[in-house]
Amino acid sequence: MHELSIATALVEQVCEAALAAKASCVVSVELVLGDLSGVEIEALELAFSMACQDTCAQGARLVVEREPLELLCSACRRLSIPDDIVMVCVHCNSTDVEVARGKALTLKSMEVL
Ligand SMILES: [Zn+2]
Repeated sequence: MHELSIATALVEQVCEAALAAKASCVVSVELVLGDLSGVEIEALELAFSMACQDTCAQGARLVVEREPLELLCSACRRLSIPDDIVMVCVHCNSTDVEVARGKALTLKSMEVL
């Protein structure tokens, strides 16, 4: 399961940071997740609570901030945010686009005690 390996790596990362900060436990973890990251938020939340068991992050709250898909059009050079996960420029309907944002899978912040 994709989400479980992500969650496990995330918990390892926050526990190491908590240890480095001489904190006893992790209260919450904030994550930025792009629409194109291929991660299901619900599955990740479940995997996170499993991965937290018996670690210093046990019971920590996972806050997920979504990063919308943003495309840069090669035809009209404008940025667009499509309503759906589609690779089409909303300005000129060109499909000659590249992903400017939306692939994020990054730890934004965390709260420790
Ligand atoms: Zn365009």
